[in-house]
Amino acid sequence: MQRDALFHGIYRALHPDHCAICHLSLETVERYLWGFLYERVNDPWTRTDLIAARGFCSTHAWQLTRARDSATGIAIVYRHLLEDFLDAFSAMAAHRLAVAAGRRRRTLFGPQNEEVLAREVGQWLERRRPCLACQSQWEAEDRNVAATAGALDDADFRARYEASLGLCFPHLIAVTASADDPDSLEWLVRTERGLMETLTQGLAEFWRKHDYRFHHEKITEAEAASWTRVVYKFVGAPGMVWRAQG
Ligand SMILES: [Zn+2]
Ligand SMILES: [Zn+2]
Repeated sequence: MQRDALFHGIYRALHPDHCAICHLSLETVERYLWGFLYERVNDPWTRTDLIAARGFCSTHAWQLTRARDSATGIAIVYRHLLEDFLDAFSAMAAHRLAVAAGRRRRTLFGPQNEEVLAREVGQWLERRRPCLACQSQWEAEDRNVAATAGALDDADFRARYEASLGLCFPHLIAVTASADDPDSLEWLVRTERGLMETLTQGLAEFWRKHDYRFHHEKITEAEAASWTRVVYKFVGAPGMVWRAQG
């Protein structure tokens, strides 16, 4: 693989406390939200996409509120979104009223038509596209998964990976699925198995030393971190939005 900027980005992001792919993808989202606030609050294309997405998802909308100087941008954009939602909601309410009135009269709408109408209105209120920040996170994940899969044959990369937390399980599965060099795959499986065994031992020791009989034994830093690290391995970094949830 060509040792390009993506390779160096992943290499530098390998760390004992986090998954490199989560870390880089969250950085991309942060840059995306920054760019949105400072460059695209009044951009008509972005606004159209935001309306189709019904604003940002819960994770990213709240992240936006915590960003520096975000209040004015949020006020401008969400005022527009609110007007659009009110239109859609009023139309939905009008449909529901028509259905309810029809049911009372038992003439205008049969049960089947009610169902069709409810589905149409439901679809209309649903997001017509994913959250824009989720989209940027997912694209970053795809780039970084491919870059990681291509970097696994590099000796320096391997050494740094072995000293890191490794990948969270969703990203480990994605990298395993996209790596096609047998030697790299074999190394990845061996390395991750080793990291998981170390974590298992850390958890066992952490638990054992909580017993009063062993209270005098000092809990190491790695053992103390093991219970949050294992959660990290399962679900990745806080703030990640996995595709199925988006
Ligand atoms: Zn991850
Ligand atoms: Zn989102």
